[in-house]
Amino acid sequence: MTCSLERMEDKIKTFSKFGDTGKGGITRFSLSEEALAARGEFVKRMKGIGATVATDDMANLYATVPGSEDLPAIYSGSHMDSVRQGGNYDGILGVLTAMEALETIVKEKLPHRHPITVVVWTNEEGARFEPAMMSSGVICGKFDKAEMLASVAKDIPGYTFGEALEASGYKGEEKNRISPEKCAALVELHIEQGPVLEAEHMDIGIVEGVCGMINYEFTLSGQAGHAGTTPMPYRRDALYAAAKTIQYLHDELDKLDKKLVYTTGKISCHPNIHTIIPDEVRFTLDARHQDPEVIKQVLSVIENLPTVVEKCELTYARAWSRNTVTFTPELVELVEKSAKEYGYSSRRIYSGPGHDAQFMIDMVPATMIFVPSVGGHSHCEIEYTPVENCHMGANVLLRTLLYIDETK
Ligand SMILES: [Zn+2]
Repeated sequence: MTCSLERMEDKIKTFSKFGDTGKGGITRFSLSEEALAARGEFVKRMKGIGATVATDDMANLYATVPGSEDLPAIYSGSHMDSVRQGGNYDGILGVLTAMEALETIVKEKLPHRHPITVVVWTNEEGARFEPAMMSSGVICGKFDKAEMLASVAKDIPGYTFGEALEASGYKGEEKNRISPEKCAALVELHIEQGPVLEAEHMDIGIVEGVCGMINYEFTLSGQAGHAGTTPMPYRRDALYAAAKTIQYLHDELDKLDKKLVYTTGKISCHPNIHTIIPDEVRFTLDARHQDPEVIKQVLSVIENLPTVVEKCELTYARAWSRNTVTFTPELVELVEKSAKEYGYSSRRIYSGPGHDAQFMIDMVPATMIFVPSVGGHSHCEIEYTPVENCHMGANVLLRTLLYIDETK
């Protein structure tokens, strides 16, 4: 029993048109015209196979085909929105493979006891309205709904998420939300967004969880001065001190576990004028690892930093963090069993990026399936997963949904 490669290809091609940048990728911000067009296509296709479509108060979409018994539904899906000039696979592939699995179940008349629901999460990227994973976060109680409704668009001044929601035509009722009573399990397929599966020639990533992460902001405070008059020994150059601190952090973190990833992705320099010695520099450090012990070691490196670097004061504060998330072990095993059944190569993996399923695990049994990203590229127009790999992912998803149906 397999999904259709042709249908998979058609789905990818069709949805790539909504927000097409003309350069191989898409810009499809949440609830934008392009995103609404993609939603329209989703609704049309799901209704076309006999699914009923509902939306909740955060405009999350649920397309459901009933099962033979009155049981909680099995959910699968992801998000349709993208970052600016993003790719055709991040998020949307989880929706398209879920659609394809459901279409196969319906067309092949595969018996199932549970209802099966394809879910589309609103505003996962947070590229237009912050934060990321907004709507799954509201449902799980991680975010305050009123605050989220007040989130202002980055592309239209003053335009709030609440206004976009009202205008979208997809705002439904709170009672339609996914809930523990309604849901037997949730499986989200996603592209890996990293290079590991491709490098190891693996068809499928069996996702055991999502790496814990910490994000700190560091501030170096020095003294501004004229670039032409202040002799070097008198300087308290905050940018030089920041550079030294970043170098030190990298040297120390390099000594920890090889799976640790860490990034200084943001830096600001004041006053940022070429004739003035910088008096204040801020930079971030994002560090991720699946093992909380390693995260603790990172913290210890941070806590043991000197308070003065190159005569500048060094302070830091935690910007945010998340604990390691572990997916439901029984579901992880079903994904593994499904991949084996097709003879696909697979390995267990932890996700570095966050996904909606990571919030949903607080409410319902959940897991994820990864497919390879060519070159590890994601959040860019060259993001690519060959259709054969997408098809394999859809097959594993299909088989997993049916195994869940048998066992739950
Ligand atoms: Zn995504």
